[in-house]
Amino acid sequence: DWDAVAAEYADDLGDEFDEAEVLPTVAIVGRPNVGKSTLVNRIIGRREAVVEDVPGVTRDRISYEGLWNGRRFMVQDTGGWEQDAKGLHRSIAQQAEIAMNTADVIVLVGDGTVGITSGDETVAKTLRRSATPVILAVNKVDSEKAELEAAEFWGLGLDEPFALSAAHGRGTGDLLDKIVATLPDRAKAADTAEGTPRRVALVGKPNVGKSSLLNKLVGEERSVVDNVAGTTVDPVDSLVELGGKVWRFVDTAGLRRKVNQAFGHEYYASLRTKGAIEAAEIVILMLDASEPVTEQDLRVISMAADAGRAVVIAFNKWDLVDEDRRYMLDKEIDREMSKILTWAHRVNISAQTGRAVQKLVPAMETSLDSWDKRIPTGVLNSWLKDVIAATPPPMRGGRLPRIRFATQATTRPPTFVLFSSGFIEAGYRRFLERKLRETFGFDGSPVRINVRVKE
Ligand code: GDP
Ligand code: GDP
Repeated sequence: DWDAVAAEYADDLGDEFDEAEVLPTVAIVGRPNVGKSTLVNRIIGRREAVVEDVPGVTRDRISYEGLWNGRRFMVQDTGGWEQDAKGLHRSIAQQAEIAMNTADVIVLVGDGTVGITSGDETVAKTLRRSATPVILAVNKVDSEKAELEAAEFWGLGLDEPFALSAAHGRGTGDLLDKIVATLPDRAKAADTAEGTPRRVALVGKPNVGKSSLLNKLVGEERSVVDNVAGTTVDPVDSLVELGGKVWRFVDTAGLRRKVNQAFGHEYYASLRTKGAIEAAEIVILMLDASEPVTEQDLRVISMAADAGRAVVIAFNKWDLVDEDRRYMLDKEIDREMSKILTWAHRVNISAQTGRAVQKLVPAMETSLDSWDKRIPTGVLNSWLKDVIAATPPPMRGGRLPRIRFATQATTRPPTFVLFSSGFIEAGYRRFLERKLRETFGFDGSPVRINVRVKE
C-alpha cells in the first residue's frame, strides 16, 4: 500500500517541493523622474539600479524580488520613454495598460515637488478604469512640512495619496504595508486554469528569425489581440491562435521594438530573455541553422533548461541549409548541445517560406503534456523495483545503497524524490532518468531527480 508509505515519507519531503510559487507582481508606473527607480531600490533594499543610463534604451519591465512582513512579491520597474511630449503621453498610457494587464497591484508615483501634471492626469485617467488595484504614491515629500503638497493629488480621482520620500525612506514602510495588504492571494501569472492560454517564450539571439516567425504565425492564423476593436496600445504579450487553441506569446513587445536591439546591449537582452523564460511555461528556442552554433545560443539553451521549462528547439532558416551544412550541424549538435539537452523536440523550419512551421504546435503540445505529467506513486515504485533489480546502484563503501521509496514531488517540471539508505551517484541518477523517460516518456520536458539519504 504505497499511500501508507507515502504518508510516512511526507514529512521528510519538506516544503521545498511545494508547487513552484508564482509571486504576485507590483508594477511601479509614473512619469520620468518622479523617482520610480529610487522607489524600486528602496523596496528591494538595494541602492543601485540595474539600469543602463543610455538615452533611448527602453528599460521596461525589469522585475526584482521584494519582501515585506514575510510576504514575497515581484516589483516591476517600468519605463520606455519617448522624448517628445506626444510620445511621452503615449508611452505613459501604454505603460499603464500593460500594468493593468499583467500586474497584481499598480503603484502610480507622482512628484510632490512638481504637483499634478498633464502626464499624471493621462495615466490616472487610464488607471481609473483599472480592475487591478491602484495605489497612489506622492514622492519627494522629504519633510513633514511638505505633506500638504501631497494632498493636491486627491485631485487625480484615485484613492488616498501616500506621501513619501523614496530617497530618504520616509513613509515607504506605510506604502509597503498598503502594498502587501492589497496583494491578492494568487498571482495573475499563476493562473493556469483550464482554458487559460499557455504561455510561450520565443527566444534566441538576435537575427535568428524570431520576429519573422511571429509575423508568420500571426499572419497565417489569427492574432486575437489585433482583432480586438479599439486596441491601440502595444501589448507586451500576443495572443495567437494556433492549431485551434489560443497561446500567449510573452513579451512580444520586445520583439517588435527592434530599434532597441540595434543598440546591442547584450546584458539587457539577456535580462529580458530570462524574464520571458521565467514568465513562460514553454520555450521555443530558436537557432539559425545556416550558421554555426555559438556560445550565445548555448547560454540561452542552458537558461531555459535551468529554469525547468518545457523546450522546443526550432532550427530556423532551413531553406539556407544544404547537404554540407546539414552534416556540420549534426556534428555541432552532437558536440555542443547533447550535454545540455537531449530531450527537447527539434523542428527544422523556415520562418520565411513557412516550411514545417506547422510542426511547432504538436511539438509544443507534447512537451507541455510531459511537463504536466504525474506518475502515480504505486506505478512509480513498482517500476523502480524492477529497474533496481535488473541494474542495482553501484556500491558505496562496500555497501549497496537501498532505494526504499520514490515519489513524484511536483510536476512542471516533473520532479522525483528518491529516499535512499546511502548516496546515489550522479551516473546512476542519469541512468534512472533515462529509464524513466524510456518507460513513461517525458519528451520535451526536463525531469529532475533528487535523492534524500535516510539511514
Ligand atoms: P524615475 O525616472 O521615475 O525612475 O526617477 P529616478 O528614480 O531616476 O529619480 C529621479 C530623480 O529624483 C533622481 O535625481 C532622484 O535622486 C530624485 N529623487 C528620487 N526620490 C526622491 C525623493 O524622495 N526626494 C527627493 N528630493 N528626490 C528624489
Ligand atoms: P530576430 O532578430 O530573431 O527577430 O530575427 P528577424 O526575424 O528579424 O530575422 C533576421 C533576418 O533573418 C531577417 O533578414 C529575416 O528576413 C531573415 N530570416 C528570418 N527567417 C528566415 C528564414 O527562415 N530563412 C531565411 N533565409 N531568412 C530568414
